[in-house]
Amino acid sequence: MLPSGLFLRLSHAAAKRAPMPSVRAGSCLHALGILEAPGVVTTDDGQPIDVQGLSLRDAHVLRALLTHAGIVPEEPAELPCENCGKPFRVSPSSLLEVGPFVDHELNDPELDAPFDHDKPHRIPRVLVGKERARTIRIAKRSVREALPLWHAEAATSFGFTPAIVTAMGITQLGRERRASVIAEALSRAPSAAYRAIADLLYAAHYSPRLVAAYRCTECGARNDLDVPWVREIPYDVAEGRRRRRPFPDIDAFERMVTDAADRIYRKRGVRNIDLVVDDDVPACDDGGEPLLGSYTHGGTDEVGIVRTPEIRIFYRTFDMEHRRDPSFDVAAEIEETIDHEITHHLHYLAGDDPLDDEERDAIAQESIRRIGKRETARRVGKGIASDFLGFLRTMWPILLVAFVATWLGFCR
Ligand SMILES: [Zn+2]
Ligand SMILES: [Zn+2]
Repeated sequence: MLPSGLFLRLSHAAAKRAPMPSVRAGSCLHALGILEAPGVVTTDDGQPIDVQGLSLRDAHVLRALLTHAGIVPEEPAELPCENCGKPFRVSPSSLLEVGPFVDHELNDPELDAPFDHDKPHRIPRVLVGKERARTIRIAKRSVREALPLWHAEAATSFGFTPAIVTAMGITQLGRERRASVIAEALSRAPSAAYRAIADLLYAAHYSPRLVAAYRCTECGARNDLDVPWVREIPYDVAEGRRRRRPFPDIDAFERMVTDAADRIYRKRGVRNIDLVVDDDVPACDDGGEPLLGSYTHGGTDEVGIVRTPEIRIFYRTFDMEHRRDPSFDVAAEIEETIDHEITHHLHYLAGDDPLDDEERDAIAQESIRRIGKRETARRVGKGIASDFLGFLRTMWPILLVAFVATWLGFCR
């Protein structure tokens, strides 16, 4: 049984036989590809159905059942317990309670209440054109109507367009009904207001039952997680902290690093490089940018001590990047950093590190772009920049002033 009251059959056997669609694993389109395969979803008496004609609420239940069954893969959630902070790692869909759907028990006044698509819902103030909107209307959407949103999920970056606004079902923001104006307003909305809208979109298009209640093994607290864990409606597109996906604590982070390193060391055919997760103040590059990772080659130092090569990962930089940009993908960035440092290692062994030269060059170029070619030349001419490090040390207060000016200009 589905939230709309529709009775359908989902064939586990047919779903397992369905060919893997050529889209990102775990995405909505992946689930759709399987749901549309022959014999997977049928009416109660075995007739084929138009899956794209289903409401999003119904379709997401079918999608959740596929992730629950492991037919559509799901990235595990790695979070600290909300109560005691003990990290845990779990695939939320595996904890979904499927009983009420299978047993036709969708009659709870709260958990099975339909979303009110006609009523305007309260939201924090959002500037729309020249007016302030305090309400939003969200229409019901079918899979077919939501496809632009599902395709956007597969793209690398997300942006509000009229097509996305329509696919989300947003029909009115305050008094505004034009999708193009609403798209513009959403892309400028303060993060708290957008999160309130995202919560409403989730409520409109996902059954309140699509939740995993994970019990902490340490303190017993209940941690509610979205099912499926990955959703096509971005929760946080502006700055600010993600409520649903806080930054992993140091233990969870270390495990992510170790797991990634095992994989990447094997793939790149390296070993015997020490791996350190550093939660102290991160080292910075020559441009003053805190490092995600660093590589120190091995060898014998001045006093004759033999050192092994080392890759160091700076926890606090990842934390900071994640706070600056909530779409910062911690797991992917860890992988990329380790891989990057291994490249330095291999270059070092080969006797030449073009990557290092490139990076220093980029830092110099960047500061020149900010300072200006002529001013840079003047300073170099005056001998202020006798070497590049000295040059940057002289430059940084000026860079800071330039940065603050840019920032103030931006805020105005
Ligand atoms: Zn706990
Ligand atoms: Zn590098």
